[in-house]
Amino acid sequence: MRGRHRDVIAREGGLVSNKQHQANEPQFYESLRPGRCTHELWAADGRIAEKVHFADGTTELIPVPIRKLDRRGTRTFRWYHLLDIPCRHGAHSHRVAVGTTSRAGERPTGHSDQERGFHRAEHLQQIPEYTRAHQLIYPYHSDAESGHSHLDASLWNGRLISYGIPSQKLFALAQNSTSRALYRPPPLLSPTS
Ligand SMILES: [Zn+2]
Repeated sequence: MRGRHRDVIAREGGLVSNKQHQANEPQFYESLRPGRCTHELWAADGRIAEKVHFADGTTELIPVPIRKLDRRGTRTFRWYHLLDIPCRHGAHSHRVAVGTTSRAGERPTGHSDQERGFHRAEHLQQIPEYTRAHQLIYPYHSDAESGHSHLDASLWNGRLISYGIPSQKLFALAQNSTSRALYRPPPLLSPTS
């Protein structure tokens, strides 16, 4: 799943967790100049990182801590990372849109991502890979995928033969009820039994 797929789901209000495509090169994002300091922000590994210059002339992109993932909107949704940019003058709070690539006319001020040529949905993820939230959620992928592959393998040509919405719903209900019955914890013994 690449940015253009994640964009659709994020706009609908859904959360996507997947690994970032390896071919993505870090991209310059913006320079912040709060007060007398400068912070050079890049998009790297699906999130905002700060380019830090060391005394020996080398630089490194260090991920900026994400305090919160924020969702806004009612019918179409926008997602934000609330960042705490570390600084010797005290951390700066900064909000950055993630997950969707804004199109022309979607932003009240300034240029949209499309006009700017920045594929935000590709470079800034809702749940970046090297975060605790990703570590907690990602392992569940194999659970969901084994269910799907079982359906693929057990049905003719990978297809569900049920015409119309009512019969498909019935199939889904049957699957869910079977799973529920199989994995329901054993009933607790009542004091009288
Ligand atoms: Zn600063």
